[in-house]
This record gives sequence, structure tokens and C-alpha cells, in this order.
Amino acid sequence: MFNFNPSHKQQFKHGEVALVGAGPGDPDLLTIQAFRIIKQAEVVIYDRLVSDEIMALLPDNCEKIYVGKKQADHRVPQDAINQLLVDHAHLNKKVVRLKGGDPFVFGRGGEEAQFLLAHKIACHIVPGMTAASACTSYVGIPLTHRNVSQSCTFITGHVQKSSSLNGENLEPNTDLPWHILADPKQTVVFYMGVKNLPMIIKEIIATGRSAHTPAALIHKGTQKDQQVYKGELAELNELVTLHNIKPPTLIVIGDVVNVFNENDLKNVGYLAV
Ligand code: SAH
Repeated sequence: MFNFNPSHKQQFKHGEVALVGAGPGDPDLLTIQAFRIIKQAEVVIYDRLVSDEIMALLPDNCEKIYVGKKQADHRVPQDAINQLLVDHAHLNKKVVRLKGGDPFVFGRGGEEAQFLLAHKIACHIVPGMTAASACTSYVGIPLTHRNVSQSCTFITGHVQKSSSLNGENLEPNTDLPWHILADPKQTVVFYMGVKNLPMIIKEIIATGRSAHTPAALIHKGTQKDQQVYKGELAELNELVTLHNIKPPTLIVIGDVVNVFNENDLKNVGYLAV
């Protein structure tokens, strides 16, 4: 019997914003809380990582504002997004900021919440399944596995240029703590790493991680058109070129990649015998 009572939570009121994590794409991975909140949305401000199937769950009459990409591939600057949230809250709407994965994992949810609070606007934080967790599970890669990997690092392949205030200029992150990624019993998951993959591979191997370490590329994980390619760390660049892999793609590095074999993995989120 389904017995769920959210009565201990604050209600979503007009003039407030909910920062909602939509997970990595499969609508089945939305939380009940996320579903409950998006059903009340009057305005939704969303980016390109939110899947069409999740967009289809929004109320018909809610206003949908896309802030993923403009012409020439530039993102809407973060300060413009912050301002949009404030402006729509001031119109006394129930505003949902819908993001891929979890809003607080490489999602700028923290910055948006700070901006809203600074403008005296209350916000709800609705966690989502982060890509590293859900996408690996769906392709049968356990992030940790006894005797194989005892720790796991989520890391960004991009950083904001310190001179840029609006987040538009992304450049290779040459200041990452490469030395902590060398441990052979650690799983490393790069977000936003495709563009800088050659640099990432070079740096990790230079710190002592074996070039033969198993690695995987997961494109559009958990979605119907999910693609997974596996190889050794040193081969990943070739795989990207060969299969013309673009974002959104996760890069998973570590022996956990080979815990299950190809035969086990014929279906999304299903290990067959
Ligand atoms: N807040 C998000 C991450 C945003 S950063 C989260 O918690 O998942 C964007 C990066 O996330 C992408 O470049 C990609 O590396 C990763 N990503 C998000 N969704 C993905 C998906 N369905 N498949 C593969 N990678 C994904």
C-alpha cells in the first residue's frame, strides 16, 4: 500500500522557486517529490539536459522557458538565468527551475539558491539522481565494488575561467587534483569531459594511472538512445572520434567498468543471464 505523506514539508507557494533535479533522462528516475512539484509549475525554466519525456509531464498551461543554448552555441549567461528566476517569482508565479541530474552536482543550483535568498525569495531544493549514479547503474557499472574499488570521485572536465563572471568562458581545468585520481582502486567519473578528453587522459596517465585501466563513455545515459563504449583509458580518444561522441557524455575510469561483461548488458538498466 502506497503511504506517502509529505505534510512535514513546506508547501510550494506562489512567488517561490523550486530548484528541481530531473535526473539523467529516464522519467522513471524522477523522484516522487520532483513529480509532485513539477505538476504545480506555472513557469518552468529548463536547460538542454532535461529529456523530452520529462518535459511532456509538465502541465499544458505552464510557461516553458529554455535557457540551454542560444544561437552560436552560447549558453544563456548565469546571471541572466538568476534574474529570470527572480523576475518570475516577483510575478507571483510558482517557478520551477528544472535541471538535469541533481541541481547541486555541477548544476549551479547553489549559486541560484544564493541569488534567490539574497532577493528574499524562498526556494525549494528537490534533489535528483545525478548522472554518475544513474547512468553507470543502467549500463551495469557499479561505482564501487568489493576488492575492486573502494572510493569514487565525481569531477568536472571544465572550470569557469576565473576572469569570467557570467560563466560563459569555459577552459580546460589544468588545476584538478590529478594526483588523487591515480589510485587503481578508485573509480573516477568525469562530467563535461568530452571536449578536454585528450588532456584528461594525458594527465591521469602522467600521474601513474595505468593506460590499460578499463574505461567507458556513456552518452545520453538512461535514455532510449543511450550509447556505451568501453575500452582502455588510452583508447578513449579514438572511441570518441570513431563514434562521433558529443555531450552529454560521462567518462568512467576504473576496474569497475569490467565487473559485468557485454553479454550481460543487452538492455538499458537490465542485466540478462
Ligand atoms: N547536474 C547534473 C550534471 C550537469 S553537468 C547531474 O547531476 O547529473 C553536465 C554533464 O553531466 C554532461 O556534460 C555529462 O557529462 C553529464 N550528464 C548529464 N546527464 C547525462 C546523461 N543522461 N548521460 C551522460 N552524461 C550525462
